[in-house]
Amino acid sequence: MVRIAVMGASGRMGQMLVQLVGESDLAVLGAAVERPGHGWVGQDLGVAAGGAALGLRVTDSVAQALEQSDAVIDFTAPGVSVALAEQAAAMGVAHVIGTTGFSDADLQAIARAAERGVIVRAGNMSLGVNLLVQLTAQVARALGMEYDIEIVEAHHRHKVDAPSGTALMLGEAAAEGRGQRLADVSERGRDGITGARQAGAIGFHAIRGGDIIGEHDVIFAGTGERITLRHVASDRSVFARGALRAAIWAQGQPPGEYSMAAVLGL
Ligand code: NAD
Repeated sequence: MVRIAVMGASGRMGQMLVQLVGESDLAVLGAAVERPGHGWVGQDLGVAAGGAALGLRVTDSVAQALEQSDAVIDFTAPGVSVALAEQAAAMGVAHVIGTTGFSDADLQAIARAAERGVIVRAGNMSLGVNLLVQLTAQVARALGMEYDIEIVEAHHRHKVDAPSGTALMLGEAAAEGRGQRLADVSERGRDGITGARQAGAIGFHAIRGGDIIGEHDVIFAGTGERITLRHVASDRSVFARGALRAAIWAQGQPPGEYSMAAVLGL
């Protein structure tokens, strides 16, 4: 049984993970972590979540949680995940990072931690999206520069970063398929007198509202025809299932930063 620490246990993804690990035959909950000062800290995890007691108290001590675990699953915030990457690597605990919204400096810090520890990081942990990433690269390669690429994503009203981590994964795949660097061609939203579209640009647009779990369209708009690749997540459990699969897969892997494509064998 792989012992799992859930970082951010009261969060939307954290609660989903606690439930999923509880149902798993391959994993067991080693620790549940919340930020210092959070109302759940010190309480029984099950009671805090409004259910029956689970016999596991929520902690704000990352060190203690890592001591009790083989892997930590982390859907929190960029600063939290960067600090945890270093600590988990030092303690030999595999780190599955679902958090999005990292800066380039954050990503460099995570890459440094992965020289010593096993890290699986993906802006989207679902099988469907990881397949869509591969299809996007393939379609972009086949269609070339004649087709304009626009990525439209929609999420719930609480999401704090844009474009979504998934939209960026799709943009990276599209750029790679056409032999471009995303940083050179990315256009974020449009407003006012923007002038005509730049040839070869990859556009990003973010819709925020209600309880939308996550929707992504990759539009290839040519002259006389348009192709749209679409993924719709209708249940957060797809991300949690992917993250748990990654935590189990990570056991015994050599240090490095891995993607979900590696975990899923795509
Ligand atoms: P959320 O706000 O519901 O949950 C985040 C939780 O982290 C909160 O409970 C918060 O208290 C906790 N937290 C903050 N600081 C902490 C600390 N220092 N120690 C422990 N816990 C701490 O957010 P969410 O909707 O669950 O999303 C979290 C992140 O995961 C976001 O970046 C989101 O974009 C990303 N996400 C990724 C995927 C994916 O498949 N990769 C899927 C869904 C969400």
